[in-house]
Amino acid sequence: MTNPRTAALIVAAGTGVRSGSPIPKQYAPLCGKAVLAYSYAALSAHPAIDRVIVVIGAGQEAALRAALGEVEYVIGGASRRLSVLAGLEALDRLPGEGRGRLVVANDANNAAAPASAGATDGVARVLIHDAARPFLSAAVIDRLLAALDTHDGAVPALPVADTLAKGDAELGETVPRDSLHRIQTPQAFLFPTALAAHRGWPNDGSGDEPTDDAQMVRAAGGSVALVAGDPMLEKITHPADFAAAEDRLATTLRTRMATGFDVHRLEVGEELWLGGVKIPHDKGLSGHSDADVALHAITDALLGTIAAGDIGTHFPPSDPQWRGADSAQFLQHAASLITERGGIIDFVDLTLMCEEPKIGPHRAAMRDRIADLLQLDTDQVSIKATTTERLGFTGRGEGIAAQAAATVRVPGGKK
Ligand code: MG
Repeated sequence: MTNPRTAALIVAAGTGVRSGSPIPKQYAPLCGKAVLAYSYAALSAHPAIDRVIVVIGAGQEAALRAALGEVEYVIGGASRRLSVLAGLEALDRLPGEGRGRLVVANDANNAAAPASAGATDGVARVLIHDAARPFLSAAVIDRLLAALDTHDGAVPALPVADTLAKGDAELGETVPRDSLHRIQTPQAFLFPTALAAHRGWPNDGSGDEPTDDAQMVRAAGGSVALVAGDPMLEKITHPADFAAAEDRLATTLRTRMATGFDVHRLEVGEELWLGGVKIPHDKGLSGHSDADVALHAITDALLGTIAAGDIGTHFPPSDPQWRGADSAQFLQHAASLITERGGIIDFVDLTLMCEEPKIGPHRAAMRDRIADLLQLDTDQVSIKATTTERLGFTGRGEGIAAQAAATVRVPGGKK
């Protein structure tokens, strides 16, 4: 049996600013990355999930791009329920394998939406997640998907630890907590069940506005399993939640550093690209790609932090498609491998070794370019230069050498 097609929707359409941040909390930074970026990375990295689509609010395109770069998204509706519906409808229109990129505005003006290919090769399972819950583990996703073998839906649940009681100004009756649960997201459903439940919900205001999708599936007669939730999945709402989340995150991340080294030959008649910047000079670097020795060394340092081989592993010099290639894409690929596993790049340090050209006049432009490529602040990128006292190949002007170090934090690993 082939693996059923599984999609994930991240609902990030809220405009709430209860977090105290001037921007909606899902786009606010948490340890240097948007809140939304954490769950996006977790869902994208899960092997059972084929596709992740973000549902954003109207006018949040720029915030989404700043948070995640170019990703697939759908514009949501006036409530959480209508936003999820917009996402489900977009998934229903996917034509199966080989389809193009989805950027769906909404039903009314979505001219680009392909026709539905029918249920047989469409989405079979969907996870619906709130962007304000950043710390999503693969184990929770595994439990949810496993429960779909026997249920129409599944939700992560935590036991209630506190005493619960009714009351207004005065304490009333205590509520037995034994059978009560706190329900989290993501919630997983068989896709046709979730779509039918959402399509069938009254739009005339006659029904209560649901606070999650599981209650809609239950109202439509579906069965929903409870699986073990995760205290890490707590929702971020208030300013204090950000501080607590940063503390939780800090305990799960391990610092790693790695180095990279590269050399390229200087030749007459080549363009000189260094640190992603074209530098006027009477010689340029030759080699595989644009031969940007600085970006190659940083790329290797970043790959080193996750033990993901070296630049040649990912972009073999023997492959003609990398001939003359812009090395920026090598650097960004290495960075994406780190962020896909929930990692954060903290710092990059580079030393260039050459007699000529002088690096000082180009240092600022290189730092800005590298920071831009890695989505870092300029002060997270250091560039130094040295001559080798006219000794060796760099001293004779035959080539340029570059040495880089990168520091990252990545989740997991033994202590
Ligand atoms: Mg190289």
